[in-house]
Amino acid sequence: MPFTSLGLSPALLKALADQNYTLPTPIQQAVIPAILNKKDILGIAKTGSGKTAGYVLPVLMNLQHTIETKNRHVNVLVLVPTRELAVQVKDVFQVFSPFLTHPIKTLAVFGGVSINPQMMALQGVHILVATPGRLLELLDSKAVHLTDIDTLVLDEADKMLNLGFKEEMTRIIDLLPKKRQNLLFSATLTDDIKQINQIVLNDPLVIKI
Ligand code: AMP
Repeated sequence: MPFTSLGLSPALLKALADQNYTLPTPIQQAVIPAILNKKDILGIAKTGSGKTAGYVLPVLMNLQHTIETKNRHVNVLVLVPTRELAVQVKDVFQVFSPFLTHPIKTLAVFGGVSINPQMMALQGVHILVATPGRLLELLDSKAVHLTDIDTLVLDEADKMLNLGFKEEMTRIIDLLPKKRQNLLFSATLTDDIKQINQIVLNDPLVIKI
């Protein structure tokens, strides 16, 4: 199945060609049309499967449609376990977003570095990629507002749980608007992930690669 049959815009198809992505990976074939249709996703897939572009592309397409009306606060929240993954995911958003009609700003925030530059950089951000602890610090200082979030991505959710972020994740999710799309990716389907699935996802498409 080629990229052209998944529902992506001509501009993003051009971006994919520029990146030398010729064929979608199996997880991309499954999740791209479903995310465009606003389905929740439970994706059991490892790094290397192409899961990142699998959600970045359709999330950008969906964001493009909502952005004109909802531009005040952050629209998309991606929670990740580590600083390295935060930067990687932000980079993938930044590779593809110049191909959209509306300028999109993505920021990665994570602990272990000074919080002030991150606070300053939050102005006008549409997509926030965050580790849970630092996001809570930013919330506590009222530097970020989650009232306009319509898409939540939990990436490497099993690793977030293994690193002890369960309580932080739950606290953050409780602060989000109830009406939203939820995309959960995990390398393994553990009991904890099943529980998060029950709490967070609404009739998800389940994909196991
Ligand atoms: P991920 O599993 O998201 O960490 O992606 C693994 C690697 O595969 C990254 O370096 C991507 O740039 C690359 N990649 C993702 N999708 C494709 C594709 N359809 N064709 C070629 N490379 C890809």
